[in-house]
Amino acid sequence: MWLACAALWLACAAAAWPQASPPLRVERIAEGVYWMQGGSGANTGVVIGRGEAAAIDAKTDAESARAMQAEIRKLTPNPVTTLILTHSDGDHVNGLAGFPRGLRIVAHGNTRKDMESAFSDPKMGGLLPYLPNETVEGSQRLNIGGVRIELLHFGPAHTQGDLVVYLPEKKVVFLGDLAFIGRDPLIHRHKNGTSLGLVRTLKEILALDAGTFIAGHAAPLKKADLQGLLSSIQEKQAKVRSLIQQGRSLEEVRTAFGAAPAPAAGGPRRPGFIEILYQDLGGK
Ligand SMILES: [Zn+2]
Repeated sequence: MWLACAALWLACAAAAWPQASPPLRVERIAEGVYWMQGGSGANTGVVIGRGEAAAIDAKTDAESARAMQAEIRKLTPNPVTTLILTHSDGDHVNGLAGFPRGLRIVAHGNTRKDMESAFSDPKMGGLLPYLPNETVEGSQRLNIGGVRIELLHFGPAHTQGDLVVYLPEKKVVFLGDLAFIGRDPLIHRHKNGTSLGLVRTLKEILALDAGTFIAGHAAPLKKADLQGLLSSIQEKQAKVRSLIQQGRSLEEVRTAFGAAPAPAAGGPRRPGFIEILYQDLGGK
Protein backbone atom coordinates (compact mmCIF):
# COMPACT_ATOMS: atom_id res chain seq x y z
CA MET A 1 0.00 0.00 0.00
CA TRP A 2 2.79 2.39 0.91
CA LEU A 3 4.60 1.78 -2.40
CA ALA A 4 1.38 2.19 -4.28
CA CYS A 5 0.79 5.42 -2.40
CA ALA A 6 4.32 6.63 -3.09
CA ALA A 7 3.80 6.00 -6.78
CA LEU A 8 0.36 7.53 -6.81
CA TRP A 9 0.93 10.18 -4.18
CA LEU A 10 -1.47 12.63 -5.67
CA ALA A 11 -4.30 10.14 -5.99
CA CYS A 12 -3.78 8.91 -2.42
CA ALA A 13 -3.60 12.45 -1.09
CA ALA A 14 -6.85 13.24 -2.87
CA ALA A 15 -8.50 10.14 -1.39
CA ALA A 16 -7.25 10.92 2.12
CA TRP A 17 -8.71 14.44 2.24
CA PRO A 18 -12.35 15.29 1.95
CA GLN A 19 -13.44 16.95 -1.25
CA ALA A 20 -13.41 20.74 -1.01
CA SER A 21 -16.89 22.24 -0.95
CA PRO A 22 -17.91 24.22 -4.00
CA PRO A 23 -17.50 27.99 -3.55
CA LEU A 24 -20.47 29.99 -2.36
CA ARG A 25 -22.56 31.62 -5.05
CA VAL A 26 -24.82 34.53 -4.19
CA GLU A 27 -27.86 35.54 -6.21
CA ARG A 28 -30.26 38.42 -5.69
CA ILE A 29 -33.93 37.44 -5.74
CA ALA A 30 -35.54 40.74 -4.69
CA GLU A 31 -34.44 44.17 -3.44
CA GLY A 32 -32.24 43.40 -0.41
CA VAL A 33 -32.94 39.65 -0.54
CA TYR A 34 -30.40 37.06 -1.65
CA TRP A 35 -29.92 33.31 -1.61
CA MET A 36 -26.63 31.46 -1.45
CA GLN A 37 -25.70 28.01 -2.62
CA GLY A 38 -22.40 26.14 -2.33
CA GLY A 39 -20.11 25.70 0.63
CA SER A 40 -21.09 22.86 2.91
CA GLY A 41 -24.75 22.34 3.64
CA ALA A 42 -28.07 23.67 2.49
CA ASN A 43 -28.85 26.88 0.66
CA THR A 44 -29.10 29.94 2.87
CA GLY A 45 -30.75 33.35 2.65
CA VAL A 46 -29.91 36.94 3.44
CA VAL A 47 -32.33 39.79 4.13
CA ILE A 48 -30.88 43.29 4.28
CA GLY A 49 -32.76 46.04 6.09
CA ARG A 50 -31.83 49.53 7.26
CA GLY A 51 -28.86 49.22 9.61
CA GLU A 52 -29.07 45.45 10.03
CA ALA A 53 -29.37 42.15 8.20
CA ALA A 54 -30.73 38.69 8.89
CA ALA A 55 -29.46 35.33 7.69
CA ILE A 56 -31.61 32.29 7.12
CA ASP A 57 -29.92 29.00 8.06
CA ALA A 58 -26.28 28.52 8.90
CA LYS A 59 -24.52 25.87 6.73
CA THR A 60 -22.97 22.63 8.03
CA ASP A 61 -19.65 23.83 9.37
CA ALA A 62 -18.07 26.92 10.85
CA GLU A 63 -15.80 27.47 7.85
CA SER A 64 -18.71 27.68 5.44
CA ALA A 65 -20.61 29.88 7.88
CA ARG A 66 -17.64 32.29 7.97
CA ALA A 67 -17.46 32.26 4.15
CA MET A 68 -21.18 33.04 4.13
CA GLN A 69 -20.62 36.06 6.40
CA ALA A 70 -17.78 37.25 4.15
CA GLU A 71 -20.21 37.19 1.22
CA ILE A 72 -22.77 39.13 3.24
CA ARG A 73 -20.13 41.78 4.01
CA LYS A 74 -19.68 42.23 0.25
CA LEU A 75 -23.42 42.94 -0.03
CA THR A 76 -23.84 45.30 2.91
CA PRO A 77 -21.93 46.99 5.73
CA ASN A 78 -24.90 46.23 7.99
CA PRO A 79 -24.25 43.68 10.74
CA VAL A 80 -26.12 40.38 10.81
CA THR A 81 -28.20 40.78 13.96
CA THR A 82 -30.56 37.86 13.53
CA LEU A 83 -30.30 34.25 12.41
CA ILE A 84 -33.49 32.45 11.48
CA LEU A 85 -33.39 28.64 11.40
CA THR A 86 -35.89 26.82 9.19
CA HIS A 87 -35.41 23.57 11.15
CA SER A 88 -32.86 21.57 13.12
CA ASP A 89 -31.02 19.44 10.54
CA GLY A 90 -27.23 19.61 10.76
CA ASP A 91 -26.79 20.94 7.22
CA HIS A 92 -28.85 23.98 8.27
CA VAL A 93 -27.58 24.61 11.81
CA ASN A 94 -24.19 23.03 12.55
CA GLY A 95 -22.36 26.00 11.03
CA LEU A 96 -23.67 28.20 13.86
CA ALA A 97 -20.28 27.89 15.56
CA GLY A 98 -18.87 30.10 12.78
CA PHE A 99 -21.10 33.01 13.83
CA PRO A 100 -20.29 35.42 16.66
CA ARG A 101 -21.85 34.51 19.99
CA GLY A 102 -24.77 36.49 21.32
CA LEU A 103 -26.70 36.86 18.07
CA ARG A 104 -30.46 36.67 18.15
CA ILE A 105 -31.20 33.13 16.96
CA VAL A 106 -34.85 32.50 16.13
CA ALA A 107 -36.38 29.05 15.57
CA HIS A 108 -39.48 27.05 16.33
CA GLY A 109 -39.59 25.70 19.89
CA ASN A 110 -39.48 22.11 18.60
CA THR A 111 -36.38 22.93 16.56
CA ARG A 112 -34.71 24.15 19.73
CA LYS A 113 -35.66 20.84 21.41
CA ASP A 114 -34.23 18.80 18.50
CA MET A 115 -31.05 20.91 18.52
CA GLU A 116 -30.69 20.47 22.28
CA SER A 117 -30.82 16.72 21.91
CA ALA A 118 -28.34 16.73 18.97
CA PHE A 119 -25.96 19.12 20.73
CA SER A 120 -26.01 17.03 23.91
CA ASP A 121 -23.63 14.68 22.08
CA PRO A 122 -20.20 15.55 23.53
CA LYS A 123 -18.79 15.82 19.99
CA MET A 124 -21.28 18.62 19.31
CA GLY A 125 -20.93 20.38 22.65
CA GLY A 126 -19.32 23.45 21.05
CA LEU A 127 -22.71 24.26 19.59
CA LEU A 128 -24.60 24.46 22.88
CA PRO A 129 -24.07 28.26 23.19
CA TYR A 130 -25.87 28.61 19.86
CA LEU A 131 -29.23 27.17 20.85
CA PRO A 132 -32.04 29.45 19.68
CA ASN A 133 -32.62 32.24 22.20
CA GLU A 134 -35.97 33.22 20.74
CA THR A 135 -38.54 30.54 19.97
CA VAL A 136 -41.70 30.64 17.91
CA GLU A 137 -44.64 28.39 18.72
CA GLY A 138 -47.33 29.35 16.21
CA SER A 139 -46.33 32.17 13.93
CA GLN A 140 -44.45 35.39 14.53
CA ARG A 141 -43.62 38.63 12.77
CA LEU A 142 -40.12 40.06 12.68
CA ASN A 143 -38.96 43.43 11.48
CA ILE A 144 -35.41 43.50 10.15
CA GLY A 145 -34.54 47.15 9.57
CA GLY A 146 -37.97 47.85 8.09
CA VAL A 147 -38.28 44.56 6.17
CA ARG A 148 -41.25 42.53 7.35
CA ILE A 149 -40.68 38.82 7.84
CA GLU A 150 -43.42 36.40 8.82
CA LEU A 151 -42.34 33.14 10.42
CA LEU A 152 -45.07 30.58 9.82
CA HIS A 153 -45.47 27.13 11.32
CA PHE A 154 -48.20 24.89 9.96
CA GLY A 155 -47.56 21.90 12.22
CA PRO A 156 -45.06 19.05 11.84
CA ALA A 157 -44.06 18.22 8.24
CA HIS A 158 -40.38 17.60 7.31
CA THR A 159 -39.69 17.87 11.07
CA GLN A 160 -41.77 18.95 14.04
CA GLY A 161 -40.19 22.42 14.00
CA ASP A 162 -40.34 23.68 10.41
CA LEU A 163 -40.58 27.43 9.94
CA VAL A 164 -41.64 28.94 6.64
CA VAL A 165 -39.92 32.32 6.24
CA TYR A 166 -42.24 34.61 4.28
CA LEU A 167 -41.33 38.10 3.10
CA PRO A 168 -44.71 39.46 2.00
CA GLU A 169 -43.43 42.74 0.54
CA LYS A 170 -40.79 40.89 -1.46
CA LYS A 171 -43.06 37.99 -2.45
CA VAL A 172 -40.30 35.57 -1.45
CA VAL A 173 -40.53 32.46 0.74
CA PHE A 174 -37.67 30.45 2.24
CA LEU A 175 -38.83 26.86 2.65
CA GLY A 176 -36.02 24.97 4.35
CA ASP A 177 -36.49 21.31 3.40
CA LEU A 178 -40.24 21.40 2.83
CA ALA A 179 -39.68 20.95 -0.91
CA PHE A 180 -37.30 18.68 -2.77
CA ILE A 181 -37.25 18.44 -6.55
CA GLY A 182 -36.18 15.30 -8.38
CA ARG A 183 -36.32 13.04 -5.35
CA ASP A 184 -38.89 11.87 -2.82
CA PRO A 185 -39.86 14.28 -0.05
CA LEU A 186 -37.85 13.77 3.11
CA ILE A 187 -39.82 13.19 6.29
CA HIS A 188 -37.84 12.83 9.50
CA ARG A 189 -39.95 10.48 11.59
CA HIS A 190 -37.36 10.67 14.40
CA LYS A 191 -38.23 14.38 14.59
CA ASN A 192 -41.98 13.67 14.41
CA GLY A 193 -42.23 14.61 10.73
CA THR A 194 -45.38 13.55 8.87
CA SER A 195 -46.46 13.30 5.24
CA LEU A 196 -50.00 14.45 6.08
CA GLY A 197 -48.48 17.54 7.68
CA LEU A 198 -46.29 18.10 4.63
CA VAL A 199 -49.36 18.16 2.38
CA ARG A 200 -51.11 20.59 4.73
CA THR A 201 -48.01 22.80 4.88
CA LEU A 202 -47.53 22.83 1.09
CA LYS A 203 -51.16 23.90 0.64
CA GLU A 204 -50.62 26.76 3.09
CA ILE A 205 -47.43 27.80 1.29
CA LEU A 206 -49.24 27.76 -2.06
CA ALA A 207 -51.84 30.14 -0.59
CA LEU A 208 -49.16 32.77 0.16
CA ASP A 209 -48.84 35.76 -2.15
CA ALA A 210 -45.32 35.00 -3.39
CA GLY A 211 -43.52 34.23 -6.63
CA THR A 212 -40.11 32.89 -5.59
CA PHE A 213 -39.53 29.97 -3.25
CA ILE A 214 -36.07 29.07 -1.99
CA ALA A 215 -35.63 25.48 -0.84
CA GLY A 216 -32.63 24.08 0.99
CA HIS A 217 -31.45 21.88 -1.84
CA ALA A 218 -32.84 23.18 -5.13
CA ALA A 219 -32.64 26.11 -7.52
CA PRO A 220 -35.28 28.82 -6.89
CA LEU A 221 -38.77 27.44 -7.39
CA LYS A 222 -42.00 28.89 -8.72
CA LYS A 223 -45.51 28.17 -7.53
CA ALA A 224 -46.01 25.71 -10.41
CA ASP A 225 -43.09 23.63 -9.09
CA LEU A 226 -44.69 23.43 -5.64
CA GLN A 227 -48.09 22.65 -7.15
CA GLY A 228 -46.45 19.80 -9.12
CA LEU A 229 -44.79 18.52 -5.97
CA LEU A 230 -48.07 18.63 -4.02
CA SER A 231 -49.92 16.80 -6.81
CA SER A 232 -47.28 14.07 -7.00
CA ILE A 233 -47.48 13.52 -3.23
CA GLN A 234 -51.27 13.41 -3.37
CA GLU A 235 -51.16 10.88 -6.22
CA LYS A 236 -48.85 8.66 -4.20
CA GLN A 237 -51.07 9.06 -1.14
CA ALA A 238 -54.12 8.01 -3.17
CA LYS A 239 -52.32 4.93 -4.51
CA VAL A 240 -51.05 3.92 -1.06
CA ARG A 241 -54.52 4.49 0.44
CA SER A 242 -56.16 2.23 -2.12
CA LEU A 243 -53.52 -0.49 -1.66
CA ILE A 244 -54.07 -0.35 2.12
CA GLN A 245 -57.81 -0.73 1.53
CA GLN A 246 -57.01 -3.84 -0.51
CA GLY A 247 -55.19 -5.20 2.53
CA ARG A 248 -51.70 -4.98 1.01
CA SER A 249 -48.68 -5.27 3.28
CA LEU A 250 -45.98 -2.61 3.46
CA GLU A 251 -43.64 -4.77 1.37
CA GLU A 252 -46.33 -5.22 -1.29
CA VAL A 253 -46.92 -1.47 -1.37
CA ARG A 254 -43.22 -0.76 -1.63
CA THR A 255 -42.97 -3.26 -4.50
CA ALA A 256 -45.93 -1.59 -6.24
CA PHE A 257 -43.88 1.62 -6.25
CA GLY A 258 -40.75 -0.18 -7.47
CA ALA A 259 -38.95 0.60 -4.21
CA ALA A 260 -35.89 -1.48 -3.35
CA PRO A 261 -36.60 -4.18 -0.74
CA ALA A 262 -36.22 -2.98 2.85
CA PRO A 263 -32.82 -3.95 4.25
CA ALA A 264 -32.78 -6.92 6.60
CA ALA A 265 -33.43 -6.02 10.22
CA GLY A 266 -30.31 -4.73 11.87
CA GLY A 267 -29.25 -1.33 13.03
CA PRO A 268 -31.54 1.67 13.14
CA ARG A 269 -33.10 2.45 9.80
CA ARG A 270 -34.91 5.56 8.68
CA PRO A 271 -38.15 4.85 6.83
CA GLY A 272 -38.38 5.90 3.18
CA PHE A 273 -41.21 8.02 1.82
CA ILE A 274 -43.50 5.14 0.78
CA GLU A 275 -43.16 3.58 4.23
CA ILE A 276 -43.99 6.94 5.82
CA LEU A 277 -47.07 7.29 3.60
CA TYR A 278 -48.12 3.74 4.52
CA GLN A 279 -47.80 4.42 8.24
CA ASP A 280 -49.45 7.86 8.05
CA LEU A 281 -52.42 6.44 6.15
CA GLY A 282 -53.02 3.75 8.76
CA GLY A 283 -51.30 0.75 7.14
CA LYS A 284 -50.57 -2.02 9.62
ZN1 LIG B 1 -33.70 19.03 6.58
